Amino acid sequence: MVKDYTTLRDPNAEYTMRELSAETMGVQAKRGGGRDVTITDVQTTMVDGNFPWTLVRVYTDAGIVGTGEAYWGAGVPEIIERMTPFVVGQNPLDLDRLFEHLVQKTSGEGSIEGITVSAIAGVEVALHDLAGKILEVPAYQLLGGKYRDRVRVYCDCHAGDESEPESNAAEAERVIEDLGYDALKFDLDVPSGHEKDRANRHLRGPEVGHKAEIVQAVTERIGDRADAAFDCHWTFSAGSAKRLAKEIEDLDVWWLEDPVPPENHDVQREVTQHTTTPIGAGENVYRKHGHRRLLEEQAVDVVAPDLPKVGGMRETRSRRVPLLRAGVVGRPLRGRTDH
Ligand SMILES: [Mg+2]
Repeated sequence: MVKDYTTLRDPNAEYTMRELSAETMGVQAKRGGGRDVTITDVQTTMVDGNFPWTLVRVYTDAGIVGTGEAYWGAGVPEIIERMTPFVVGQNPLDLDRLFEHLVQKTSGEGSIEGITVSAIAGVEVALHDLAGKILEVPAYQLLGGKYRDRVRVYCDCHAGDESEPESNAAEAERVIEDLGYDALKFDLDVPSGHEKDRANRHLRGPEVGHKAEIVQAVTERIGDRADAAFDCHWTFSAGSAKRLAKEIEDLDVWWLEDPVPPENHDVQREVTQHTTTPIGAGENVYRKHGHRRLLEEQAVDVVAPDLPKVGGMRETRSRRVPLLRAGVVGRPLRGRTDH
């Protein structure tokens, strides 16, 4: 039975040594110009899409509402409900302080990674939406301004028999010609029929060959019309990932995504540095500190932070981290089709 958090004692809500509320920090000065806005409530809802996405709404006494996304997963709405008292009564324009406030208040519950970070991110994104509306500027202006007017978006492709190379190639053709995309992504963690044991992470020779056939069918079909990435969803061992990456080196692969589990940084680096196939990772990495070694040790070619998992708008900013060898591909926040 799920408890009503609002009726439970919460020591962190009552006291943390490091305290960043407006009251404790002495944030009292009147701001004027319509900027004396106070948060009155936070609400969540689940959107039943390809996954149960959690959306967040932050309400204010000015009648302005901010919307954010907090990724999906059981428990995220409950954590946001639990955090609501930490932001009610605060000014939504204090973006850095409120983020730190939420991280501190939920530190005992694990605000360095996992769904606590996703919950904080949902509120943080909604605060940016609010702040932009209050200041009458787009949210990007709050992060340092424009780099571009148009953002390239890839289409995550699924159609027909995903184990069939020709089926993937046909879908690539459709997405380019009918939908107008010039960037695509396909899954490579699909059964080939050659598996002897689905529990282990080893790829047998025929399995490597089958995945290479999918990559070849897609890249040859699209030619110069589009770029194509291939996602493995953290499935394979280091040896198998290296063998697969090697096998497709001569094909024009945009990046090979998450070939190995995210837990072992050294394996991630080893795979990346063993091949000329660009390796992408970051979707299952939390907060800026989670990405630090990936970047500093050149353990990845393409960083793909998932904004609600990395901690929100400000935590995703690339200016603050050394990018070195890596490129950055931000995943679209809304309207995405897969992970
Ligand atoms: Mg992925």
